[in-house]
Amino acid sequence: MTDPSRRASGLRTWFSVNGRLEFVLTLASVTLLTGACVALILLPRNAGPLQLATDEAEVIGTTANLGDPRLTPVRQDLQPFGPILVRQVAAGGSSEALLVAHPSHRTDLDVLEQQLAPAIAAVSATWGTGWNRAPVIVVAGTPAEFTALTRAAGTTAEVAAVALTGSYVPGTEPTEQRIVFNPDARRRVGDEGLATLLRHELTHVATRAATGDGAPLWLTEGYAEYVAQRGQGSTFSQIAPTLTTRLRAGVLPTDLTADADFTGTDAPYAYETAWSACAFLADRYGPDTLTTLYQRLATGPQDRAASDAAFAAVLGTTRADLLDGWQAWLRGRAG
Ligand SMILES: [Zn+2]
Repeated sequence: MTDPSRRASGLRTWFSVNGRLEFVLTLASVTLLTGACVALILLPRNAGPLQLATDEAEVIGTTANLGDPRLTPVRQDLQPFGPILVRQVAAGGSSEALLVAHPSHRTDLDVLEQQLAPAIAAVSATWGTGWNRAPVIVVAGTPAEFTALTRAAGTTAEVAAVALTGSYVPGTEPTEQRIVFNPDARRRVGDEGLATLLRHELTHVATRAATGDGAPLWLTEGYAEYVAQRGQGSTFSQIAPTLTTRLRAGVLPTDLTADADFTGTDAPYAYETAWSACAFLADRYGPDTLTTLYQRLATGPQDRAASDAAFAAVLGTTRADLLDGWQAWLRGRAG
Protein backbone atom coordinates (compact mmCIF):
# COMPACT_ATOMS: atom_id res chain seq x y z
CA MET A 1 0.00 0.00 0.00
CA THR A 2 1.08 3.51 -0.67
CA ASP A 3 1.61 5.61 2.41
CA PRO A 4 -0.71 8.63 1.84
CA SER A 5 1.74 11.08 3.38
CA ARG A 6 4.50 9.80 1.13
CA ARG A 7 2.22 9.98 -1.84
CA ALA A 8 1.27 13.60 -1.01
CA SER A 9 4.89 14.45 -0.50
CA GLY A 10 5.64 12.92 -3.87
CA LEU A 11 2.97 15.07 -5.45
CA ARG A 12 4.40 18.18 -3.94
CA THR A 13 7.77 17.24 -5.26
CA TRP A 14 6.36 16.58 -8.69
CA PHE A 15 4.61 19.91 -8.76
CA SER A 16 7.52 21.84 -7.37
CA VAL A 17 9.59 20.45 -10.21
CA ASN A 18 6.86 21.05 -12.69
CA GLY A 19 5.28 24.47 -12.14
CA ARG A 20 3.16 24.26 -15.25
CA LEU A 21 -0.20 24.49 -13.53
CA GLU A 22 0.49 27.95 -12.25
CA PHE A 23 0.16 29.53 -15.65
CA VAL A 24 -3.40 30.64 -15.82
CA LEU A 25 -4.82 30.42 -12.36
CA THR A 26 -5.38 34.07 -11.76
CA LEU A 27 -8.98 33.76 -10.77
CA ALA A 28 -10.97 30.95 -9.33
CA SER A 29 -14.46 30.53 -8.08
CA VAL A 30 -14.97 28.00 -5.38
CA THR A 31 -18.16 26.19 -4.58
CA LEU A 32 -18.30 24.70 -1.11
CA LEU A 33 -19.91 21.36 -0.43
CA THR A 34 -21.38 22.77 2.73
CA GLY A 35 -24.45 24.80 1.93
CA ALA A 36 -23.97 24.69 -1.84
CA CYS A 37 -22.14 27.92 -1.73
CA VAL A 38 -19.37 29.56 -3.47
CA ALA A 39 -16.55 32.06 -3.25
CA LEU A 40 -14.80 33.99 -5.93
CA ILE A 41 -11.17 34.01 -4.98
CA LEU A 42 -8.74 36.30 -6.61
CA LEU A 43 -5.30 34.91 -7.02
CA PRO A 44 -2.05 36.72 -7.58
CA ARG A 45 -0.87 36.44 -11.11
CA ASN A 46 2.00 34.08 -11.55
CA ALA A 47 3.84 35.07 -14.64
CA GLY A 48 6.52 32.42 -14.35
CA PRO A 49 7.69 30.61 -17.43
CA LEU A 50 5.88 27.51 -18.49
CA GLN A 51 7.55 24.21 -17.92
CA LEU A 52 6.08 21.77 -20.31
CA ALA A 53 5.75 18.18 -19.23
CA THR A 54 6.80 15.50 -21.60
CA ASP A 55 4.16 13.02 -20.50
CA GLU A 56 0.43 13.09 -21.02
CA ALA A 57 -2.28 11.02 -19.40
CA GLU A 58 -3.25 7.96 -21.37
CA VAL A 59 -6.69 8.32 -22.92
CA ILE A 60 -8.47 4.98 -22.58
CA GLY A 61 -11.94 5.93 -23.68
CA THR A 62 -12.90 8.85 -25.81
CA THR A 63 -15.36 10.31 -28.22
CA ALA A 64 -13.02 13.24 -28.70
CA ASN A 65 -10.58 14.28 -31.32
CA LEU A 66 -7.29 13.79 -29.50
CA GLY A 67 -5.81 16.56 -31.62
CA ASP A 68 -7.99 19.14 -29.84
CA PRO A 69 -5.39 21.63 -28.58
CA ARG A 70 -7.36 22.18 -25.36
CA LEU A 71 -6.81 18.55 -24.45
CA THR A 72 -3.02 18.72 -24.36
CA PRO A 73 -2.66 20.77 -21.12
CA VAL A 74 -5.38 18.68 -19.48
CA ARG A 75 -3.58 15.44 -20.33
CA GLN A 76 -0.33 16.89 -19.05
CA ASP A 77 -1.86 18.01 -15.77
CA LEU A 78 -3.62 14.70 -15.21
CA GLN A 79 -0.73 12.49 -16.24
CA PRO A 80 0.37 11.70 -12.65
CA PHE A 81 -3.11 10.50 -11.76
CA GLY A 82 -3.66 7.74 -14.26
CA PRO A 83 -5.62 7.06 -17.44
CA ILE A 84 -8.55 9.26 -18.41
CA LEU A 85 -11.83 9.16 -20.22
CA VAL A 86 -12.47 12.07 -22.54
CA ARG A 87 -15.76 13.09 -24.07
CA GLN A 88 -16.37 15.78 -26.61
CA VAL A 89 -19.89 17.13 -26.29
CA ALA A 90 -21.77 19.44 -28.63
CA ALA A 91 -23.61 21.65 -26.18
CA GLY A 92 -24.58 24.75 -28.09
CA GLY A 93 -21.27 26.54 -28.47
CA SER A 94 -19.23 27.27 -31.54
CA SER A 95 -16.93 24.41 -30.56
CA GLU A 96 -17.54 21.33 -28.46
CA ALA A 97 -17.14 20.99 -24.72
CA LEU A 98 -14.50 18.65 -23.30
CA LEU A 99 -15.37 16.43 -20.33
CA VAL A 100 -12.56 14.53 -18.63
CA ALA A 101 -12.52 12.06 -15.74
CA HIS A 102 -10.80 8.91 -14.63
CA PRO A 103 -12.63 5.58 -15.04
CA SER A 104 -13.53 5.65 -11.33
CA HIS A 105 -15.79 8.63 -12.07
CA ARG A 106 -17.45 7.42 -15.22
CA THR A 107 -20.92 8.03 -13.75
CA ASP A 108 -20.02 11.63 -12.91
CA LEU A 109 -19.05 12.02 -16.53
CA ASP A 110 -22.39 10.54 -17.62
CA VAL A 111 -24.32 13.01 -15.41
CA LEU A 112 -22.28 15.99 -16.54
CA GLU A 113 -22.61 15.00 -20.20
CA GLN A 114 -26.37 14.73 -19.80
CA GLN A 115 -26.64 18.03 -17.91
CA LEU A 116 -24.24 20.11 -19.94
CA ALA A 117 -26.43 21.30 -22.80
CA PRO A 118 -29.35 22.28 -20.54
CA ALA A 119 -26.92 23.97 -18.14
CA ILE A 120 -25.35 26.03 -20.91
CA ALA A 121 -28.82 26.91 -22.16
CA ALA A 122 -29.86 27.96 -18.64
CA VAL A 123 -26.83 30.22 -18.19
CA SER A 124 -27.33 31.71 -21.65
CA ALA A 125 -31.01 32.36 -20.92
CA THR A 126 -30.01 34.82 -18.22
CA TRP A 127 -26.58 36.06 -19.28
CA GLY A 128 -26.97 35.80 -23.04
CA THR A 129 -25.02 33.76 -25.57
CA GLY A 130 -21.99 36.03 -25.79
CA TRP A 131 -19.53 33.49 -24.40
CA ASN A 132 -17.85 30.47 -25.93
CA ARG A 133 -20.22 27.86 -24.43
CA ALA A 134 -17.49 25.24 -24.89
CA PRO A 135 -16.13 24.58 -21.41
CA VAL A 136 -13.34 22.24 -20.39
CA ILE A 137 -14.52 20.25 -17.37
CA VAL A 138 -12.44 17.86 -15.25
CA VAL A 139 -13.59 15.55 -12.47
CA ALA A 140 -10.71 14.85 -10.10
CA GLY A 141 -10.30 11.22 -9.15
CA THR A 142 -8.97 11.66 -5.63
CA PRO A 143 -8.77 14.42 -3.02
CA ALA A 144 -5.03 14.65 -3.64
CA GLU A 145 -5.61 15.16 -7.34
CA PHE A 146 -8.30 17.79 -6.67
CA THR A 147 -5.96 19.67 -4.37
CA ALA A 148 -3.20 19.46 -6.92
CA LEU A 149 -5.36 20.65 -9.80
CA THR A 150 -6.85 23.53 -7.83
CA ARG A 151 -4.14 24.33 -5.34
CA ALA A 152 -3.66 27.84 -6.69
CA ALA A 153 -7.21 28.55 -5.53
CA GLY A 154 -6.34 27.49 -1.98
CA THR A 155 -9.00 24.82 -1.98
CA THR A 156 -9.87 22.46 0.84
CA ALA A 157 -11.78 19.20 1.04
CA GLU A 158 -15.00 21.19 1.50
CA VAL A 159 -14.75 22.75 -1.92
CA ALA A 160 -17.05 21.06 -4.42
CA ALA A 161 -16.01 22.70 -7.64
CA VAL A 162 -13.70 25.37 -8.93
CA ALA A 163 -13.76 27.48 -12.05
CA LEU A 164 -10.22 28.44 -12.97
CA THR A 165 -9.75 31.17 -15.49
CA GLY A 166 -7.11 33.31 -17.04
CA SER A 167 -6.39 36.91 -16.27
CA TYR A 168 -8.99 39.57 -16.83
CA VAL A 169 -8.78 41.68 -19.90
CA PRO A 170 -11.89 43.87 -20.15
CA GLY A 171 -14.18 42.86 -22.95
CA THR A 172 -12.18 39.88 -24.13
CA GLU A 173 -12.91 36.23 -23.69
CA PRO A 174 -10.40 34.52 -21.41
CA THR A 175 -8.55 31.86 -23.33
CA GLU A 176 -7.84 29.45 -20.50
CA GLN A 177 -10.81 28.30 -18.48
CA ARG A 178 -11.38 25.04 -16.71
CA ILE A 179 -13.97 23.76 -14.26
CA VAL A 180 -12.69 21.15 -11.79
CA PHE A 181 -15.01 19.03 -9.66
CA ASN A 182 -14.16 17.49 -6.30
CA PRO A 183 -14.16 13.67 -6.55
CA ASP A 184 -16.76 13.54 -3.75
CA ALA A 185 -19.07 16.25 -5.08
CA ARG A 186 -21.65 13.99 -6.71
CA ARG A 187 -21.69 11.57 -3.79
CA ARG A 188 -22.36 14.44 -1.41
CA VAL A 189 -24.83 16.59 -3.34
CA GLY A 190 -26.39 14.06 -5.72
CA ASP A 191 -27.00 14.30 -9.44
CA GLU A 192 -29.22 17.38 -9.18
CA GLY A 193 -26.75 19.07 -6.88
CA LEU A 194 -23.98 18.35 -9.37
CA ALA A 195 -26.06 19.97 -12.10
CA THR A 196 -26.54 23.03 -9.88
CA LEU A 197 -22.80 23.24 -9.28
CA LEU A 198 -22.26 22.95 -13.02
CA ARG A 199 -24.62 25.84 -13.77
CA HIS A 200 -22.97 27.94 -11.05
CA GLU A 201 -19.45 27.38 -12.34
CA LEU A 202 -20.53 27.83 -15.94
CA THR A 203 -21.95 31.21 -14.93
CA HIS A 204 -18.51 32.24 -13.70
CA VAL A 205 -17.02 31.09 -16.98
CA ALA A 206 -19.67 32.92 -18.99
CA THR A 207 -19.32 36.16 -17.04
CA ARG A 208 -15.55 36.12 -16.76
CA ALA A 209 -14.97 38.59 -19.56
CA ALA A 210 -17.18 41.07 -17.69
CA THR A 211 -15.80 40.34 -14.22
CA GLY A 212 -12.85 42.29 -12.92
CA ASP A 213 -10.56 41.31 -10.07
CA GLY A 214 -11.97 42.65 -6.83
CA ALA A 215 -15.59 42.76 -8.00
CA PRO A 216 -18.02 42.63 -5.07
CA LEU A 217 -18.62 39.03 -4.05
CA TRP A 218 -22.24 39.58 -3.08
CA LEU A 219 -22.83 40.25 -6.77
CA THR A 220 -20.51 37.75 -8.45
CA GLU A 221 -21.39 34.83 -6.17
CA GLY A 222 -25.00 35.86 -5.74
CA TYR A 223 -25.47 36.15 -9.49
CA ALA A 224 -23.83 32.77 -10.20
CA GLU A 225 -26.05 31.07 -7.67
CA TYR A 226 -29.12 32.96 -8.89
CA VAL A 227 -28.46 31.70 -12.42
CA ALA A 228 -27.77 28.19 -11.10
CA GLN A 229 -31.06 28.07 -9.20
CA ARG A 230 -33.29 30.03 -11.54
CA GLY A 231 -36.29 28.05 -12.73
CA GLN A 232 -35.14 24.81 -11.11
CA GLY A 233 -38.03 24.56 -8.67
CA SER A 234 -36.09 24.57 -5.41
CA THR A 235 -37.71 26.38 -2.50
CA PHE A 236 -36.20 29.31 -0.66
CA SER A 237 -35.37 27.18 2.37
CA GLN A 238 -33.80 24.47 0.19
CA ILE A 239 -31.53 27.00 -1.49
CA ALA A 240 -30.78 29.00 1.66
CA PRO A 241 -31.20 26.84 4.77
CA THR A 242 -28.88 28.85 6.99
CA LEU A 243 -30.46 32.15 6.00
CA THR A 244 -33.93 30.68 6.56
CA THR A 245 -33.02 29.60 10.09
CA ARG A 246 -31.80 33.09 10.94
CA LEU A 247 -34.78 34.77 9.35
CA ARG A 248 -37.08 32.60 11.44
CA ALA A 249 -35.10 33.75 14.48
CA GLY A 250 -35.78 37.34 13.47
CA VAL A 251 -32.28 38.09 12.19
CA LEU A 252 -32.20 40.10 8.96
CA PRO A 253 -29.16 41.16 6.96
CA THR A 254 -28.61 44.88 7.41
CA ASP A 255 -26.35 45.46 4.41
CA LEU A 256 -25.12 43.72 1.30
CA THR A 257 -22.73 40.93 2.22
CA ALA A 258 -19.16 42.12 2.68
CA ASP A 259 -16.35 40.28 0.88
CA ALA A 260 -14.71 39.33 4.19
CA ASP A 261 -17.81 37.35 5.18
CA PHE A 262 -17.26 34.84 2.38
CA THR A 263 -14.49 33.04 4.23
CA GLY A 264 -14.57 31.19 7.51
CA THR A 265 -17.14 29.07 9.25
CA ASP A 266 -20.04 31.41 8.50
CA ALA A 267 -19.36 31.39 4.77
CA PRO A 268 -22.53 29.44 3.87
CA TYR A 269 -24.63 32.26 5.31
CA ALA A 270 -22.72 34.78 3.20
CA TYR A 271 -23.30 32.83 -0.02
CA GLU A 272 -26.95 32.25 0.70
CA THR A 273 -27.46 35.90 1.60
CA ALA A 274 -25.73 36.99 -1.60
CA TRP A 275 -27.98 34.67 -3.58
CA SER A 276 -31.04 36.14 -1.86
CA ALA A 277 -30.00 39.69 -2.73
CA CYS A 278 -29.74 38.78 -6.41
CA ALA A 279 -32.95 36.75 -6.30
CA PHE A 280 -34.70 39.76 -4.80
CA LEU A 281 -33.29 42.11 -7.43
CA ALA A 282 -34.38 39.77 -10.22
CA ASP A 283 -37.82 39.43 -8.65
CA ARG A 284 -38.28 43.17 -8.18
CA TYR A 285 -36.55 44.58 -11.25
CA GLY A 286 -36.35 41.61 -13.61
CA PRO A 287 -33.48 39.26 -14.50
CA ASP A 288 -32.30 41.47 -17.36
CA THR A 289 -31.90 44.43 -14.99
CA LEU A 290 -29.97 42.23 -12.58
CA THR A 291 -27.68 41.30 -15.45
CA THR A 292 -27.27 44.97 -16.36
CA LEU A 293 -26.33 45.72 -12.75
CA TYR A 294 -23.79 42.89 -12.86
CA GLN A 295 -22.22 44.27 -16.02
CA ARG A 296 -21.91 47.68 -14.42
CA LEU A 297 -20.68 46.67 -10.94
CA ALA A 298 -18.58 43.56 -11.59
CA THR A 299 -15.84 45.38 -13.47
CA GLY A 300 -13.71 45.64 -10.34
CA PRO A 301 -13.71 46.88 -6.76
CA GLN A 302 -16.58 49.27 -6.03
CA ASP A 303 -16.69 51.74 -3.20
CA ARG A 304 -19.95 52.70 -1.59
CA ALA A 305 -20.42 55.78 -3.77
CA ALA A 306 -19.90 53.81 -6.99
CA SER A 307 -22.38 51.17 -5.87
CA ASP A 308 -24.91 53.82 -4.90
CA ALA A 309 -24.50 55.46 -8.31
CA ALA A 310 -25.15 52.11 -10.01
CA PHE A 311 -28.27 51.50 -7.90
CA ALA A 312 -29.55 54.91 -8.95
CA ALA A 313 -28.67 54.52 -12.62
CA VAL A 314 -29.70 50.89 -13.15
CA LEU A 315 -32.43 50.38 -10.56
CA GLY A 316 -33.60 53.95 -10.08
CA THR A 317 -33.38 53.57 -6.33
CA THR A 318 -31.25 54.36 -3.31
CA ARG A 319 -29.29 51.90 -1.21
CA ALA A 320 -31.62 52.53 1.71
CA ASP A 321 -34.72 51.78 -0.33
CA LEU A 322 -33.05 48.74 -1.86
CA LEU A 323 -32.18 47.36 1.58
CA ASP A 324 -35.67 48.08 2.87
CA GLY A 325 -37.18 46.27 -0.09
CA TRP A 326 -34.83 43.30 0.29
CA GLN A 327 -35.58 42.97 3.99
CA ALA A 328 -39.32 43.06 3.37
CA TRP A 329 -38.91 40.46 0.62
CA LEU A 330 -36.90 38.25 2.99
CA ARG A 331 -39.49 38.61 5.77
CA GLY A 332 -42.07 37.31 3.36
CA ARG A 333 -40.01 34.19 2.72
CA ALA A 334 -38.95 33.26 6.22
CA GLY A 335 -41.94 30.98 6.58
ZN1 LIG B 1 -18.93 30.90 -7.39
